[in-house]
Amino acid sequence: MSALDPLSDEQREIRELVRTLARERIAPRAAEIDKQAEFPWDVVELFRENELFGVLYDEAYGGIGASALMTLVVIEELSRVCATSGLIVAVQELGSLGIKLAGTEEQKQRFLPKLASGEWLAAYALTEPGSGSDSAAMRTTARREGDEYVLDGGKRFITNAGVAHVYVVFAKTDPDRGHDGISAFVVEADSPGFSVGRIEPKMGIKGSTTGEVFFDSCRIPVANLLGEEGEGFRIAMRILDRSRPGIGAQGLGLAQGATDYAVEYARGRETMGKPIGQHQLIAGMLADMETRCEAARNLLYKVGRMIDEGDTGPELTKLSAMAKLFCTDTAMAVTTDAVQVLGGYGYVTEYPVERMMRDAKITQIYEGTNQIQRLVIARELLKESRTS
Ligand SMILES: Cc1cc2nc3c(=O)[nH]c(=O)nc-3n(C[C@H](O)[C@H](O)[C@H](O)COP(=O)(O)OP(=O)(O)OC[C@H]3O[C@@H](n4cnc5c(N)ncnc54)[C@H](O)[C@@H]3O)c2cc1C
Repeated sequence: MSALDPLSDEQREIRELVRTLARERIAPRAAEIDKQAEFPWDVVELFRENELFGVLYDEAYGGIGASALMTLVVIEELSRVCATSGLIVAVQELGSLGIKLAGTEEQKQRFLPKLASGEWLAAYALTEPGSGSDSAAMRTTARREGDEYVLDGGKRFITNAGVAHVYVVFAKTDPDRGHDGISAFVVEADSPGFSVGRIEPKMGIKGSTTGEVFFDSCRIPVANLLGEEGEGFRIAMRILDRSRPGIGAQGLGLAQGATDYAVEYARGRETMGKPIGQHQLIAGMLADMETRCEAARNLLYKVGRMIDEGDTGPELTKLSAMAKLFCTDTAMAVTTDAVQVLGGYGYVTEYPVERMMRDAKITQIYEGTNQIQRLVIARELLKESRTS
């Protein structure tokens, strides 16, 4: 470990393994995954074979020892070549965090080992047609009947809809109590009354499924309640504090992948008698792109280290939102610049940067739009005393 590279030797080895897998096995598939817009089960199989999901889980639950920093590095490396593949890992973490943070030992033993091996995929179901940024305005309900909860309603824009086995779902157990009336549940895909609706065609991350899920008198055991009744909103926000850096990592990977491609292109493409990289206006763009990536990486890894050191307070809420905001705004700016560096070739699908630009856009929207991140950062900032 050095001041410049916060990873231990073992972590660097994992990064090398993932980098090689990404370059050799996933990069050649990325354009096809985008074109076919089909969930890449072969990539999931590759992750299973290489025990990549294990990075997200403690050894007690079949993982190799959860590390937030390492999770970010894995998502970054995968997203450098294919943002859909990076998202598979990010959403496995997002969908598992409710169980990790609020689950009982029995729940952890029941669900986490199958998620750690990759046998099951996970999803996080908060958003509804009428409630995205204002998530507490959800309408899905859950009422207790004996040993079961009965869920009614529906969720929209759920990543992994139709491919996940386990959905962490938020529903109102006491609709009159606002935030305090929301509870969190694990709903298995084979629960009676659960169904998957429309899968959305999208601008980017086309291999990832984004869809509706419905609960029609959907019955789940009381044993699937996470935490206590009424704790759901707090659990949802604790999950987002921990998962938002993962979307930052997806954004950073996209930005670095686009920068790397643009630099190589600028070395080879000649106009007016020299490589375009030697025209100062292009050189300046490349310098800004790389600088933005490096600044984003430093902020992101700082959050990873904070989580690994057990920091869960308001500072984490603020820094996690900052990392998501900065890395994903960087992704959009840098991928757009990469298209510009390639000129007309940047705009056609034969080259990867237009795909990276389309993929980058969603990182500014999901897991809280970047407007919402700014509100979160400002709220935490205004709570702090700045003069003591
Ligand atoms: C591809 C994809 C995958 C997704 N995956 C998931 C998932 O797995 N699980 C899940 O639960 N959700 C998921 N989402 C939903 C996503 O998190 C929401 O779309 C997002 O939070 C925004 O909500 P909304 O679309 O309802 O927009 P709205 O909340 O209607 O916002 C519309 C606009 O208004 C702005 N805005 C809203 N309120 C304010 C405010 N108070 N101040 C300033 N500006 C504001 C927003 O920033 C945005 O620009 C996904 C969405 C997409 C497109």
